[in-house]
Amino acid sequence: MPTAELRLGGFVSLSSCDWPGDLAATVFCQGCPWRCRYCHNPHLLGTHPSGSVQWPDVVELMRRRVGLLDGMVFSGGEPTLQSGLVAAIREIRALGFRVGLHTAGPYPDRLNAVLPSLDWIAFDVKAPFGDYAKVTAVSGSGEHAKESLRAVIASGVQYEVRTTVHPQLLGSRDLFVLADSLDGMGVTHYTLQGCRVDGCLDRTLAPAPPEQVTVLAEGLRGHFPHIKIAIRNVDQED
Ligand code: SF4
Repeated sequence: MPTAELRLGGFVSLSSCDWPGDLAATVFCQGCPWRCRYCHNPHLLGTHPSGSVQWPDVVELMRRRVGLLDGMVFSGGEPTLQSGLVAAIREIRALGFRVGLHTAGPYPDRLNAVLPSLDWIAFDVKAPFGDYAKVTAVSGSGEHAKESLRAVIASGVQYEVRTTVHPQLLGSRDLFVLADSLDGMGVTHYTLQGCRVDGCLDRTLAPAPPEQVTVLAEGLRGHFPHIKIAIRNVDQED
């Protein structure tokens, strides 16, 4: 059977944290159009595969994991950058697995194409939508992210919206502006993530005080009573 074309930078055969509550394998898709200074996977940003793992080998391994795993997470990089994502997700679903997606939403059209095949989405929101370039270094990126997030909310697919906080990139005032905006869009599942700077794209970023995320999360409980806190960066490869 022909397999999809998907460029990969890594594969983790068992993860209990990439999809909370599910035992999943995770593929790290190659390439991202944005350049977030805190990105923990700089080797995944270019379009050429940075790892030796091949998609057909991943499918074969998953075939042998039927009954042992709940699903597969497509992470990155930015999985929706690749046109092969749609077919790759279909292949995994055909084996009977649930499918999760980590995305920041730069490609609303491709996200819309895969939404009906997803069981869960971790959606990374960077900043107030008008200020995205401060984090992503790409002008107009916030408009694409907003369109994608709207589609996720309207789809009814389970999701979690996540924001990584670093004082040099997202001030507390910006975070409250963002929270107002997300609340207005109907976001209910929200996680704040502390930022670890070791190994990130911009080595000049200062270490962020770990207690900051807890203080900020408490301040947002009026918007999100069930807000969660994470110390692990969403884009960190295991
Ligand atoms: S953090 Fe995510 S969206 Fe930002 S550059 Fe890295 S992979 Fe791309």
